[in-house]
Amino acid sequence: MSRVPMASPRGEEERARRALAAGAIAFQVCEECGAAIWYPRTVCPACMSGALRWARSAGRGAVHSLTTLHRAGHPDREAELPYTVALVDLDEGIRIIGDLADGLRIGDRVGAEVAADGVRFVSADGEPAGGADAR
Ligand SMILES: [Zn+2]
Repeated sequence: MSRVPMASPRGEEERARRALAAGAIAFQVCEECGAAIWYPRTVCPACMSGALRWARSAGRGAVHSLTTLHRAGHPDREAELPYTVALVDLDEGIRIIGDLADGLRIGDRVGAEVAADGVRFVSADGEPAGGADAR
């Protein structure tokens, strides 16, 4: 899990960070067009409506892409090398980034372990692997 210092969040981002600290992934849903929105914004990127509500993700999804880092993205993570980060398509329709447990591949079903400084995805045992992007 990341221990990289975080910038001071404001507005919608602050609310999402508070949710992480409480163990949840919060995202927005547009009341006008129904779009699921991540990262947090003040207006819907699909229809420009300001009528957004907050929702919580169940933290389940599929790996969209991944990369293993052999050089730390921040000096505080050098002891963790190599580590893998992934873009994960959550079942609610948002794509978020997080650390990925070893041995997982694109298309694998994963579940989120949430902490104040980020999300780590682990295998969702019992769920079938292979999403639309699986190869
Ligand atoms: Zn919208």
